[in-house]
Amino acid sequence: MPDPAAHLPYYYGCINRSEAEEHLKLGGMADGLFLLRQCLRNLGGFVLSVVCDVKFHHYPVERQLNGTYAISGGKPHCGPEELCEFYARDADGLCCPLRKPCNRPAGLEPKPGVFDNIRENMLREYVRQTWNLEGDALDQAIISQAPQLEKLIATTAHEQMAWYHGAISREEAERRLYSGSQPDGKFLIRERNESGTYALSMIYGKTAYHYKIDMDKSGKYSIPEGSKFDTLWQLVEYLKIKSDGVMYILREACPSPGVSYGTAAVVPPPRPMSVMSTGDSGYTPEPIKIGMQSEGKRLLPMDTQVYESPYSDPEELKAKKLFLNRDHLIIDEVELGSGNFGCVKKGVFKMKKKQIDVAIKMLKSENEKSVKDEMMKEAKIMHQLDNPYIVRMIGLCDAEALMLIMEMASEGPLNKFLSSRREQIKVENIVELMHQVSMGMKYLEEKNFVHRDLAARNVLLVNIHYAKISDFGLSKALGADDSYYKARTAGKWPLKWYAPECINFRKFSSKSDVWSYGVTMWEAFSYGQKPYKKMKGLEVVEYIESGKRMDSPPDCPEEMYKLMMDCWTHSFELRPAFTDVEQRMRCYYYSLANKSEKSEKSEILPEK
Ligand code: ADP
Ligand code: MG
Repeated sequence: MPDPAAHLPYYYGCINRSEAEEHLKLGGMADGLFLLRQCLRNLGGFVLSVVCDVKFHHYPVERQLNGTYAISGGKPHCGPEELCEFYARDADGLCCPLRKPCNRPAGLEPKPGVFDNIRENMLREYVRQTWNLEGDALDQAIISQAPQLEKLIATTAHEQMAWYHGAISREEAERRLYSGSQPDGKFLIRERNESGTYALSMIYGKTAYHYKIDMDKSGKYSIPEGSKFDTLWQLVEYLKIKSDGVMYILREACPSPGVSYGTAAVVPPPRPMSVMSTGDSGYTPEPIKIGMQSEGKRLLPMDTQVYESPYSDPEELKAKKLFLNRDHLIIDEVELGSGNFGCVKKGVFKMKKKQIDVAIKMLKSENEKSVKDEMMKEAKIMHQLDNPYIVRMIGLCDAEALMLIMEMASEGPLNKFLSSRREQIKVENIVELMHQVSMGMKYLEEKNFVHRDLAARNVLLVNIHYAKISDFGLSKALGADDSYYKARTAGKWPLKWYAPECINFRKFSSKSDVWSYGVTMWEAFSYGQKPYKKMKGLEVVEYIESGKRMDSPPDCPEEMYKLMMDCWTHSFELRPAFTDVEQRMRCYYYSLANKSEKSEKSEILPEK
């Protein structure tokens, strides 16, 4: 997970106490001068170094089990930044309040910690190999699924390491250590008889030593009395640097027999089955299974057929045409939805190497040319977009009707999904889905497109953990130098989702999409309720202009309501952009994932 202090100018990363003191000396030694650094002993923790009375004070800041940060005996805070802000207002037991940040000199980046690189590389390597992803698709997978991926890696990564020998006896461990050369620091890790506990066996002076690895209540590993770590591999990496409680530092891995290890750190597990269909009835509420794989493991967006474009395969791309061959299309009778234009049907599209489930938007034949033009415009927009969190167009087909062929999002619109499964869906799940929507919208913002119809009805679900933005019927591509689109006349507009400048000046920008995102959030956190109750569109306009805003949905987290309210900032100049919105959603989503780590472990990854 990204370092929550990485963005702070007074954060120095992994420097030691005396280095911190040097920086503070250079900073002038005024009372209240402070900096923040990483704590090596306590994984995920920090140290706050403060000057007072020409003396240095160092306060360890621990990351607690519920994901908050606190100085021992002090109040908990949701992040290191909030913690520093708090102690700037109130010394609350510190030597003095924080007065002046000792910022890093220009050009000095925070020093990476022992694990930062390994951890990040490991995550990337794991995703790259497991799902065969590269570039943006790889980045987006990591951003959107970091908490789940870290958990996956944390629980299974050691099994892939050369030094991990599984459940072997102490005698067998010694036999393996004594075979071949016996340099000091040759080691292996094995599982002990009591399953779930481990031991370190190592050679020193031609003798084998064995250390029990403890696991505490929160699931952290340690050699008795030593530092605690979230994973076995972190413990091993640490002991390679510091012989914390053992005879000698770990040097050479005694390789586990029968496994050949390449250069990559992680060997991919078998690629999960693709999970497009949840039955062929389109939208049947069926408890629990959606978003779960058969063994009960959670399904990630990358496990589905629609994470990457079907044309990401070069061979399929070669055969790509805008207008699809009608013979390659099978249209089902099942209707997924309908509108003025006609209806959306389920179908299958036969590609070169595979068949994919599709949704087909069909124009009624009696429609006039203008409606046809509308659909062509929609197609032209969709054609330019390619993002995991946006419904992709596969192509057009002009046969019995003009048809727009799209990727299938079989669980349908977010509002309906949430209202029919209220009991099943936790707030964390909604945060995850809305974070994905913010990623899709950030992509649109970067590409200079305005959606103009973002609403829960137009967020479609692939499964319970995977959302995509759809319905580009009103969308516009902005000119390279334009920051907004000006509509010539007002039309049939979704006023309840529109920002004041859309209604007052017909001006549409990514910032007005942010307003709509706020309304969509409100819909999501109220499990698909209609916004502004029974009010008419024009009443809502007056309500907003008089400075009023919707109340928080019941049980909506405070941080999320605050973000909604910021999305509803009257002036679009002061309103956050999607880069900010995504950042805040990500931050909150990761913090929740930290908090629920324990309860989720037992819920989603049942004991083997
Ligand atoms: P409209 O412009 O009429 O709102 P939409 O594009 O929103 O048209 O589609 C209408 C309905 O069709 C959606 O609410 C949804 O139920 C269904 N639908 C549309 N696209 C898809 C898709 N890609 N996968 C599954 N269902 C879809
Ligand atoms: Mg729609």
